[in-house]
Amino acid sequence: MSGCHVIVIYLTKMQPEARRLLNKGIGLLSLFSTLKGRFTVFAAVLVLIAVGTTVYTHKNVKQSSDAVAGNLAIRYASQNYSQQIHDGLFDSYKKLSAFLLDPTRTELQAQIHTSLQNTIEASQALSSTVSPAFVANTSIDFNELTRLLMALNADVSKVLNTRLKSREQYPALGQGNQILRPNRIQFVNAMSVAMYEMSSEQESYDQEVFQALVKARFLWSQMVSNFRLYLANRFGSFDEEALKQQEVGIGQLYQALQLQLAVLDKFEQEDKLGFEAANALADMIVSSRGWYQGFKAVKNINRSGEWRADVVLIRTNIEPKLEAITQILSELNAHFEAESLDGIGLLVTAAETQSRFMLYASLCIVAFFILTILFFEKMVLRPVRDVAKAMKAVAFGERGVTIPATGAKETQYLVDAFNEMRSQVRSRQFELEHQALHDSLTGLANRILLRDRLDQAVYNARLAKTECALLIIDIDRFKEINESLGHHAGDALLVEVGLRLESILRKIDTVARLGGDEFAVLLPQSNLPYARRVIDKIEQALGSIHSINGSPIYVSGTIGVAIYPEHGSSPGILLRHADTALHSAKTTQSNFSFYDENLYDDNADRLTLSGDLRDAINNDSLHLVYQPQFDFNSSFVVGVEALVRWDHPRLGAIVPDEIVSLAEQTGQINALTYWVLDTAVRQCAEWRKSGLDIGMSINLSVLNLQDGELIEQIKNCLSLYDLGQNCLTVEITESAMMINPASAMKILKKLEAMGLKLVIDDFGTGFSSLSYLKQLPVEKLKLDKSFVISLDKDSNDEVIVRSTIELAHNLGLQVVAEGVENKASWEILRNLKCDLGQGFYMSKPKSAKEITKWLNSQVVVESIAI
Ligand code: C2E
Ligand code: CA
Ligand code: CA
Repeated sequence: MSGCHVIVIYLTKMQPEARRLLNKGIGLLSLFSTLKGRFTVFAAVLVLIAVGTTVYTHKNVKQSSDAVAGNLAIRYASQNYSQQIHDGLFDSYKKLSAFLLDPTRTELQAQIHTSLQNTIEASQALSSTVSPAFVANTSIDFNELTRLLMALNADVSKVLNTRLKSREQYPALGQGNQILRPNRIQFVNAMSVAMYEMSSEQESYDQEVFQALVKARFLWSQMVSNFRLYLANRFGSFDEEALKQQEVGIGQLYQALQLQLAVLDKFEQEDKLGFEAANALADMIVSSRGWYQGFKAVKNINRSGEWRADVVLIRTNIEPKLEAITQILSELNAHFEAESLDGIGLLVTAAETQSRFMLYASLCIVAFFILTILFFEKMVLRPVRDVAKAMKAVAFGERGVTIPATGAKETQYLVDAFNEMRSQVRSRQFELEHQALHDSLTGLANRILLRDRLDQAVYNARLAKTECALLIIDIDRFKEINESLGHHAGDALLVEVGLRLESILRKIDTVARLGGDEFAVLLPQSNLPYARRVIDKIEQALGSIHSINGSPIYVSGTIGVAIYPEHGSSPGILLRHADTALHSAKTTQSNFSFYDENLYDDNADRLTLSGDLRDAINNDSLHLVYQPQFDFNSSFVVGVEALVRWDHPRLGAIVPDEIVSLAEQTGQINALTYWVLDTAVRQCAEWRKSGLDIGMSINLSVLNLQDGELIEQIKNCLSLYDLGQNCLTVEITESAMMINPASAMKILKKLEAMGLKLVIDDFGTGFSSLSYLKQLPVEKLKLDKSFVISLDKDSNDEVIVRSTIELAHNLGLQVVAEGVENKASWEILRNLKCDLGQGFYMSKPKSAKEITKWLNSQVVVESIAI
């Protein structure tokens, strides 16, 4: 059991679901067998990659940008709050400084509190704005921030209050009040007491002592004034350098004061002082020293930097808080900064990812296009090129060309189509070749193949120094057979003739049909005697009765022969000369003719002759002869038949059959007929004028019956010469009428209606039936001369003539006999009651002049016979 069988059995046993899936799979696989399918799959993959990449990168970027945008909003709000805190602090601090400088600007207090309150609110808002993630990521305590701000607010209140109470504000003032002031009062009082005593009570007191007191008082007041300046400077100008100098100045004044007091003390020891003054001096020394201690304490306070309470508060409470707050805020800003950088980083990463994906997608697309190009090259272009190459090879006739199978269905279709086309082309070529070289009706060789074989035969004969013969055969009266029995019968006869010709010839001989009823026989390696024998055979073969569609037909042929090399040295010449020989045979009415160089070369001259005929018609160089017709009863001439003559300047007299056939073939038959009509009618009119009352007969060709103007022309001509219709008789051959009986009938009726007399010419040669004859509007039958010429010798002819005359008379028609060549025939015809006679016995056709003379002499048949 083969693998295939196993699969088939397995498939049939499979569950329907599984089979369905398998079918699906096979369906998908078959997608790959077509270019369209493969391309679709490729394109789908590409689209998937493109869409996937786009969706992924879009999602990626959106996520990042959403995150960044969300953070940005929070950060923006947070930074805003942070900025508000910062601004509030700055504002309140600025205002606090302003207030501390100028506590009279009480409105600032409220503003400072408002600002601080705003920072507290901002801080609360900030702590509720920042995300939990942010809180988790940082060590910032937002509650601490709020708490610090609130504490700051409280501290600021304290500073403001302190600033408003000068004692609290300036601790040095307290020292001044507690220590300096009592000492100063004490000193001043002591000085006053001493001065008073020394000035009022004891005028005898030493002036020197008084002066010393004054100087001490001066130094004291200098010192106190300087101290006041010092304080004023401390509180007002903040000029630290000036303060130091002032401190030194006070110290120097104090030293000077102590020296002065020491001087006074010396005076006291000298007892130059009064009692009161001595006590006062002691007080002065004590109080001055106490004052100076107080000054030193103030100086220390001032130097310590704690000379202002607000400054202390600011340094100890406010600044640390501010620092802590600033620390928190800057930490916050640092975080914001970091977060912002993170956001940018995120976006940058997203953008990088996107561009990377775009790059991959572009690479995929480029790869796809490269693959597509390679794929097309392999699957389409190469196979197409192969097919094109193969086609070219086949076109140039190369054999055994094969095209390799391709993987894709489409290109395989092309290859299959090409192979199919090739075989079709081959068979058609064969057919065409056959058609081109053979006659479609008879299957015989045609003119081309004959020419080819003739070329070959001549070539061989030339080489072998032998002869060959070419025969051209024309079937006699084929036209009539064709026209009377129909084309089918004609065709059947041609086939039959072909078969008979082939049956009597050798294998090496060629029978060809040249067209129409013309055949050719090529006899290679044949000389004249052999050709002569073949002619006999042909005559025999054609001569026996043919049965076409059940009717017996007698056929004869006319043969023209040319022999190589005697009658022509080349195939072309041989062909022409065989044709000339044929024409010659026809003209001489012989069965065959060998080419003779003295023969008139019909083909060559036909063209010139056609022009000559045209000139002859136009120049009146034709002429008519008239043959009289006699009445058998009266023996008198009753009419004449006009017959055309042409004396060609070079070729001499050309027979009327030849003239008519030339005119028919070259389209001049109407012109010829009108010329004859005009000449004959004019002659007839002339005769009538001169008293010769005879009828005129003219002959019409078959082609004249197809001329629409014929009737009109005849009418015009008769009226032109003022001649009655009944003078003119029109002769039409029986075979002409049979070509198209219906149209012949029509035109004959018209001619009859005009009053013309109609005659059926050459009666007996055609195939008209009696019933047809009955319908024709004719007046006379003209017995063909072939029955009449030998009437006196051939009893068969007499039978035919007799029965024809009887038949015609029965039909009410008159009979004209032409070709009456002797008295015996005349007598027979007269006995047979023939109506009219025409023939050489009575008169050959004669010129107008001769016949006029003849008519004027009133010739009767009897007189001729005498
Ligand atoms: P057709 O119409 O049968 O003319 C009678 C022919 O018989 C004439 O030949 C005439 O010369 C000839 N013939 C007359 N009596 C005798 C005789 O006793 N013995 C012999 N052997 N022949 C006799 P022709 O003139 O050579 O004309 C030949 C044919 O040419 C005419 O035959 C006619 O068909 C045609 N034809 C002549 N002239 C014209 C014409 O003007 N128009 C047309 N369409 N055909 C014409
Ligand atoms: Ca005639
Ligand atoms: Ca005739």
